[in-house]
Amino acid sequence: MLTPEQENARTLMKLMGLSEDEAVQKLKWRVAISATGSAGERLALLIKQVVGLTVEVVAIEDQPDLEFAINRPPAGQAPLQILATIDAQGMVAWSPSNSGRAPAGDMPPDVAMKIAACYAAGYILSEWRGGEHCAALPRPFTVDFAKLGITPALANQAIDMSASVLVGGGGVANGFLWAAEELLLTGRLLIVDPKTVSKGNLNRCLLFTEADLGENKAEVLARNVRIGNLELVPFVGSFDAVVRARQRVKQAIVTVDSRAARRVIQNGLPLEVLDASTTDVTSVVVHSHAQPTDGACLACIYKHNPAEDERELSIAEGLGISVAEVKQDFIDATLARKLCGIHPGLDEAALINTQLTSLYKQLCGAQSLLTNAGEQALAPFAFVSNLAGALLALELLKFSADREAATQSHYLTLDPWRPPHKLARRVYGRAADCGFCADPANLSVLASVWPEWLGSGDDGPSEAAA
Ligand SMILES: [Zn+2]
Repeated sequence: MLTPEQENARTLMKLMGLSEDEAVQKLKWRVAISATGSAGERLALLIKQVVGLTVEVVAIEDQPDLEFAINRPPAGQAPLQILATIDAQGMVAWSPSNSGRAPAGDMPPDVAMKIAACYAAGYILSEWRGGEHCAALPRPFTVDFAKLGITPALANQAIDMSASVLVGGGGVANGFLWAAEELLLTGRLLIVDPKTVSKGNLNRCLLFTEADLGENKAEVLARNVRIGNLELVPFVGSFDAVVRARQRVKQAIVTVDSRAARRVIQNGLPLEVLDASTTDVTSVVVHSHAQPTDGACLACIYKHNPAEDERELSIAEGLGISVAEVKQDFIDATLARKLCGIHPGLDEAALINTQLTSLYKQLCGAQSLLTNAGEQALAPFAFVSNLAGALLALELLKFSADREAATQSHYLTLDPWRPPHKLARRVYGRAADCGFCADPANLSVLASVWPEWLGSGDDGPSEAAA
């Protein structure tokens, strides 16, 4: 399997058109973060966590290529310097030739701080990328917490997670749980994933370490994460299996990594969906809806598209297996045996329960980058998937505070490299050709599973339903 450094190098090669050697050199870039005051020092720590998975973080004495100075003037003489402030209003970052603003001195909610840390890491990596991308960034670069809708009251609500299931335990799930450490969550949250932690995951997953390699992702997360009064319960298997075991799942928090897997989850008939995804390093999507809705379901948003077929075909041809085997997404014991027969030298036991796309990237090497399949399989940098996860945690706060508003089906798409825009979140309508909700038969099955919420009776929904 690819190492975290190789994953980052691959993504960088594609993003900047570099050769593998150039990308590896570029990844040796070094950054120092300096800060004063409690808000500044807290943000510095969080930025180091996120950006440190992509480039090296060093002390200010160690001649960094860039210094990011929070709530203070630069402490060293780095060739690139960024000034930043953090306070309850937000984070502002700028280069010395622009003007920023003085910090107000008050602390933002911790979950806001984590979102700001992801944006700060992205800003730092923009300076690292340089060129036109960097020149086009707005300066000062402002992450306005009011625009994102984060308030202390929103962040401080208690939420019982016992009717929720976290589907997927990869990069976005790591970001979600990392941000959720700052929330007042209670009850029992089920984490569902059939796959194991592989080396490539470590390029973006804050909650996995080398010691977790080869272990089930859900089990590792349940063991490594501590969230106040919340009990995390792992489930090794698919969302389907959870639905079969529990009869129904009220709230699916979706972090899986394919469009097809999302359509399968919609078919599992959850009453509420909160979902976040990334497209390599270029976009983050957050969606939520509660039934009954006239708006989009998960299958409306992740409708089948022709590029999916093309991608599956490339992977099938690249690995010498069938499209049906590609569709199962992860490698079970039967497929592991078959792959070892085709590609001598693979470790059969180590392949079981790993992701097929990881093997594809490993075996097809740099060539896979030239195909649509390779592009789809690019690993996001840590700031992208953790931003998606942190925004999903924010969506949970908004959803829990006002479920009525959530029946509108909200959709947010943003460029993780640019400051968040107030108008990014919008109401998303139903797709007329949706594979799920365009069929009245599916909606009536959904209503039969959730009679107390969706039945024809006029009692209205009962809060006790779960
Ligand atoms: Zn739909």
